[in-house]
Amino acid sequence: MVDRPPIRYFDHAATSWPKPPVVTAAMVAALETASGNPGRGAHRLALEAERVIAAARSSLAGLLGVADERDLAFVPGCTYALNLVLKGLLAPGDRVVVSSVEHNAVTRPLAALATGGVNVVTVPADAEGHVDPDDVERAVAAERTAAVVCQHASNVSGVIQPVGDLADIAHEHGALMVVDGAQAAGHLDIDLAALGADAYVVPGHKGLLGPQGIGAVYLSPGCEPHGLVQGGGGRDSAAAAQVSERPDRYEAGTPNVPGIAGLGAAAELPRAEGPAIRAAERRLARRLHEAVAAMPAFRVLGPPVLEERVPVVTVVHATRAPDEIAFELERSAGIAVRAGLHCSPWTHQALGTFETGAVRLSVGWGLTDEDVDVVLESLAALGG
Ligand code: PMP
Repeated sequence: MVDRPPIRYFDHAATSWPKPPVVTAAMVAALETASGNPGRGAHRLALEAERVIAAARSSLAGLLGVADERDLAFVPGCTYALNLVLKGLLAPGDRVVVSSVEHNAVTRPLAALATGGVNVVTVPADAEGHVDPDDVERAVAAERTAAVVCQHASNVSGVIQPVGDLADIAHEHGALMVVDGAQAAGHLDIDLAALGADAYVVPGHKGLLGPQGIGAVYLSPGCEPHGLVQGGGGRDSAAAAQVSERPDRYEAGTPNVPGIAGLGAAAELPRAEGPAIRAAERRLARRLHEAVAAMPAFRVLGPPVLEERVPVVTVVHATRAPDEIAFELERSAGIAVRAGLHCSPWTHQALGTFETGAVRLSVGWGLTDEDVDVVLESLAALGG
């Protein structure tokens, strides 16, 4: 057996690990006691599954500032939710304005829609990855626009985008505002009542510290994408068409009850322990960022102003390839990072790193100062 160093997990932006014990416990409890099919029976296991889902929806709605829980639908994740929203809202001939720093979960559905006749207009970001609301305003004002799409925070540069301002601009021009909250949920305070987004998508498995395979989409009243999937839901079984009520309209098929239970438990965490968790991750990210930025061979992507960022520190080395750095960090010290284009080739194009890619160190729950020390020593040993 090869002796391997313990894992030091700096890949939280891909998926968070480890999960808080309350999340695991909620999932195990759901498998044991809420294992009926919710909405499809009146026996106690089915009713308990329904109760678990209602409680989780309520927890997540509370966390995100959603006034009417029915506006929040559980979905398998952000990618699914973005497909649902974009394909369900945009029709051939529609115009959509999108930032140039979006994830493939946005750009690929839009590419598919473009081949079907949707007009996709891209607004460039600056070299740090910021989207300028004035540029978006000009693009939206130029022609009738159905929707504006932007991420809340970047998985590459860490930039927090001014999505509230973009929502105001979209609404002034009669467009809907779609926000990809994949990197914001759990890291930023999100108040959807105040933000003004018409659609906002969150994954369970990143900053919220929930499980994989479950997420949620918020749809404002009046934002009515047609559903991607039709099928059973337990009510109105005789009707030929999918039920029109929210959230059932968007939740056809047996739901991921253990996943929803885990997400519900995770959504309670930020309310109880959130400020402490966030303060810790921000402090560690700041330490890491400042120390790497001071190493002559490394360049940190994104803005130097740490208040404008989520805890993602993406770096390029003057001479070493990102893959080589990631391999060495893992081999020598068990440090888990992600190298390459991070499913965001558009962002790397904006930041000038499309040809090389970069190494992303993303900070989150469970990391310590010692972990950051080890990363800094390892980067220095690579020729910092
Ligand atoms: N958008 C952004 C900005 C992301 O970082 C990710 C995940 N890397 C996604 C969308 C897609 O999320 P998921 O893979 O959980 O569907």
